Amino acid sequence: MSKLTVNDCDFNGKRVLIRVDFNVPINKETGEVSDDTRIVAALPTIKYVIDNGGKAILVSHLGRPKGEKKPEFSLYPVSKVLEKLIGRKVLFADDCIGKEVEDKVSQMKNGDILLLQNVRYYKEEKKNDKEFAKKLAELADIHVNDAFGTAHRAHASNVGVADYLKSAAGFLMEKEIKMLGKAVENPDHPYVVILGGAKVSDKIGVITNLLGKADKILIGGAMMFTFLKAIGKNVGNSLVEDEKIELAKEILNDAKEKNVDFVLPVDTVIAKEIKQGTESKVVNIDDGVPEGWMGLDIGPETIKLFEKKLDDAKTVVWNGPMGVFEVEDFSKGTSEIAKCLAGLKNATTIVGGGDSAAAIKKFGLEDKVSHVSTGGGASLEMLEGKNLPGIESISELPEKKNRGIVVAGNWKMNKTPSESKQFANMLNGAVGNEKDIEIVVFPSALSLDGVSEILKDSNIEVGIQNIYPKDSGAFTGENAIPMAKDLGLQYVLVGHSERRHVFGETDEFLNTKVKAVLDKDLKAMFCIGELLEDRKAGSTNEILEKQLKQGLKDITAEQMKNIVLAYEPVWAIGTGVVATPEQAEETMDYCRKVIAEMFGEDTAESLKILYGGSIKPENFESLICQKNIDGGLIGGASLKESFIELVEIAKNHI
Ligand code: ADP
Ligand code: MG
Repeated sequence: MSKLTVNDCDFNGKRVLIRVDFNVPINKETGEVSDDTRIVAALPTIKYVIDNGGKAILVSHLGRPKGEKKPEFSLYPVSKVLEKLIGRKVLFADDCIGKEVEDKVSQMKNGDILLLQNVRYYKEEKKNDKEFAKKLAELADIHVNDAFGTAHRAHASNVGVADYLKSAAGFLMEKEIKMLGKAVENPDHPYVVILGGAKVSDKIGVITNLLGKADKILIGGAMMFTFLKAIGKNVGNSLVEDEKIELAKEILNDAKEKNVDFVLPVDTVIAKEIKQGTESKVVNIDDGVPEGWMGLDIGPETIKLFEKKLDDAKTVVWNGPMGVFEVEDFSKGTSEIAKCLAGLKNATTIVGGGDSAAAIKKFGLEDKVSHVSTGGGASLEMLEGKNLPGIESISELPEKKNRGIVVAGNWKMNKTPSESKQFANMLNGAVGNEKDIEIVVFPSALSLDGVSEILKDSNIEVGIQNIYPKDSGAFTGENAIPMAKDLGLQYVLVGHSERRHVFGETDEFLNTKVKAVLDKDLKAMFCIGELLEDRKAGSTNEILEKQLKQGLKDITAEQMKNIVLAYEPVWAIGTGVVATPEQAEETMDYCRKVIAEMFGEDTAESLKILYGGSIKPENFESLICQKNIDGGLIGGASLKESFIELVEIAKNHI
């Protein structure tokens, strides 16, 4: 994704203005929140911010107070619910701008949460007033947008503030952009779209946009009758938009021209009134709906037909229920299609639209589909192919120079020679050839012979974890560079923190090693990194600069082409603690500057710098998104199948 997300940000000590969607229903009599779904949904982003040392300032709208301070739209009850759900104190400010709020914010400590009063108490919010947005922005250092439901509107609290603050997508927003964005821009095929619901007119934009993209479009819901009438079927008293019949004809023609399989129902469940238990029956569409009756659901033959059409789908987007699902007698079409989606294997299944989301929830299948979009209007507009202002305003990730990506696995003192061979065989079968991706493994010295033999025709390079900088001689226990060359190895790891700290190798000694490696035309993966006490003392940059200047002393710019740098904060190696992508990026940017000073801009620009330290499939993408991070030197996660996942992530990223 090209957008900045919370994973890319460093929140420590920062005031973070989070635009959440707390537009929850309030019980008129008790004044209490009657459904906390949206508050629960916002928790991951809020927790991430406070767990990373941020001060969370939450801003939201609730209902339609139309620019007036009406107490029935107060967010105060929400603060109480949030407090229970998140298990810590939630401060509340009875305004969203002004002195009182500023004072409260200035007293916040890292990890505190403050909920601001309804932002729509000000009419300036919906007008996206510049001054108002500025006042909101002044409360914070960074903005997080997690309110997808308002993304199709340019308001001050989601869009306006981004003129003054860096704006990052929260987790909910990120998922919406990823899922819906992919469905619109580059879906896997066959791509099946199911449309239903009340009106054709609501979904015209979606149909026209998806006609050029989907392989099949299945039509259910009331909107089917406008299409059926357009092709001359009797629709009785079913809901029809007569003024859209011409349009329906055009759409059908268009579908034919574009070779889209446009599927209309073959039967329907009819009744005389929308009421549970009323007389109902199934009729064939060819026989038509009799006068006085209306079609309220798709029939059993249509369900079978749709299931068949969905059978080989790789992407499914569903918007609009198949019938009046609110009434049990007419809910079968909707529930069966929901079940069918839930059962699809290897397909990305996306449900959008307020009522469709409610339907899938009612049937208890929301966790069985890939994504249920939370924004009614916003998801429709996205499916229409429109650019939403609330997404456009999120900051772009910094542009990255194309240096390619390195995925390197340091097996350290793990795996016996037989285990290593077995694992190498597995990697050989699983990792294909990919331009711009360099894959390297560093087995233990005793395993090198076997592993390099297995991988000799693959695109996986093999390196040695350590060498002694002499060609041969009385150096008991050591391995020499000519031995590594004899096995056809490409890389030598130099300066790993364990060599520095467990075996006491100094910068001067490491410099001798690097020079020996480069002199023999092998590539060196040169590691640097600071200890926790260095970081705490604020001397990170100083330490790294010393490691670079002494470790790479007397090396030429030409030789630097055979060096890959790996930055591994020692406090993040094997500890499960990972530097935030922003921390890593900042430090690595500094290292590149030191390299530029030593070897010139060109060398610095083309040098690959890897990050190392507790890399996992969950955090890899957010790291390699950074401008200065060109891959990873992976420890624990390189010993398992997760290494293949990491290679896949790199491939998808390129
Ligand atoms: P979504 O909110 O998912 O986009 P819509 O708002 O377009 O869906 O439509 C949902 C409504 O359509 C539901 O309330 C449902 O009862 C109604 N509906 C579906 N099929 C029919 C039908 N055959 N006749 C009348 N109403 C229908
Ligand atoms: Mg609706």
